[in-house]
Amino acid sequence: MTQAPASNELFQRAQKSIPGGVNSPVRAFRAVGGNPRFMVSAKGPYLYDEDGNRYVEFINSWGPMILGHAAEVVNEAVQKAIPNSLSFGAPTRREIEIAELIVSMVPSIEKVRMVNSGTEATMSAIRVARGFTGRDKIIKFEGNYHGHGDSFLIAAGSGAITLGVPDSPGVTKGTAQDTLTAPYNSLDAVKALVDANKDQVAAIILEPVAGNMGLVTPQQGFLQGLRDLCDQEGIVLIFDEVMTGFRLAAGGAQELYGVTPDMSTLGKIIGGGMPVGAYGGKKEIMDFVAPAGPVYQAGTLSGNPIAMAAGMAMLTYLKEHQEVYTDLEKTTNSIVAGIKQNMQQLGLNYTINQVGSMFSLFFTEQPVVDFETAKTSDTALFGRYFNSMLEKGIYLAPSQYEALFVSTAISGDLVDQFVQANYEALQEAH
Ligand code: PLP
Repeated sequence: MTQAPASNELFQRAQKSIPGGVNSPVRAFRAVGGNPRFMVSAKGPYLYDEDGNRYVEFINSWGPMILGHAAEVVNEAVQKAIPNSLSFGAPTRREIEIAELIVSMVPSIEKVRMVNSGTEATMSAIRVARGFTGRDKIIKFEGNYHGHGDSFLIAAGSGAITLGVPDSPGVTKGTAQDTLTAPYNSLDAVKALVDANKDQVAAIILEPVAGNMGLVTPQQGFLQGLRDLCDQEGIVLIFDEVMTGFRLAAGGAQELYGVTPDMSTLGKIIGGGMPVGAYGGKKEIMDFVAPAGPVYQAGTLSGNPIAMAAGMAMLTYLKEHQEVYTDLEKTTNSIVAGIKQNMQQLGLNYTINQVGSMFSLFFTEQPVVDFETAKTSDTALFGRYFNSMLEKGIYLAPSQYEALFVSTAISGDLVDQFVQANYEALQEAH
């Protein structure tokens, strides 16, 4: 039994000065019960908490740590950059280098603007799409999460659904009216929305592989169907690749599925663990961004030299070692095969969705293809499973509505440890 008195005490203290005790809601473990563990360090596949407990990592800072924690290639680049000042607020050579690297890796990106988070990237991207098209409305998908910009907190996934607030209070009616929503994987629903709002839709934004209602894959023809519709209707197609960018392939989901959007948003891996996001796309669209064009978007710390050093090191490594993606997929396949075998032995038949190094075990027997089917999962059962895995030293996302991320630091032994823990946790949770 893992003891966590130091974490428990810190959580009590944290709640006095921080809303809910955390700086991002899902970290609070609200959906699974119990207190969050307070971390002090991490190396490779392991996290260490305030009580000295060690956990094997399957969150990886919600995606960025694809090479495991404290990867030398990234840490060395950061250490080298620090003595030259933490921030300039003026252009640097490295910003050009990282922009050129991103352009060379992500098929849809001809020009790119660096920001400080995925939220900033998506907020900015829709503003640019609106400026470019002269239209106001956007279409998003139920259960997709695009950060906490007002326009996106409507039928939102991730922490919003985990806490039961997919439509957040505080978003004005006016903003909400401009966000139209459709079920994920339903091209017909999108077509109906576009027909009903002729020449008013600026952008369709989606996670090309959805990771924020648990992992949900795009069905055959869905992405291409959206591409064709956007071409016909003059709508800007935006792939939100904050999660999938540099994770499913060096060029993200758009490379994997061979469908190129007009704009893409990036985050997580792009900063190697530092707070970075980016949005980019076709030249003619990106040239609407100030100071090249009239759509305003700015940032005091954007292109920060330390963050760019970390991002540059991470992306260069991934570009030069693309075998990482086949290795990650193999590791993840072994984990998923192990879970399936465990379920067979235990007479269980839950749904597992996987693409590359992202996967989710849904506690439902229905195929999970959208928000409605994801919500058929037994979240109480998930909570028991989660806590049982935590007791066995396996650190999972504390919500049914999140994907798990595998890093290159997960080896054969750790796969076996996961699969064994999964067998016992499935038994205990029932
Ligand atoms: N878009 C997607 C697909 C995400 O998964 C997230 C965060 O999880 C965001 C946007 C928001 O990014 P950030 O948390 O860096 O603001």
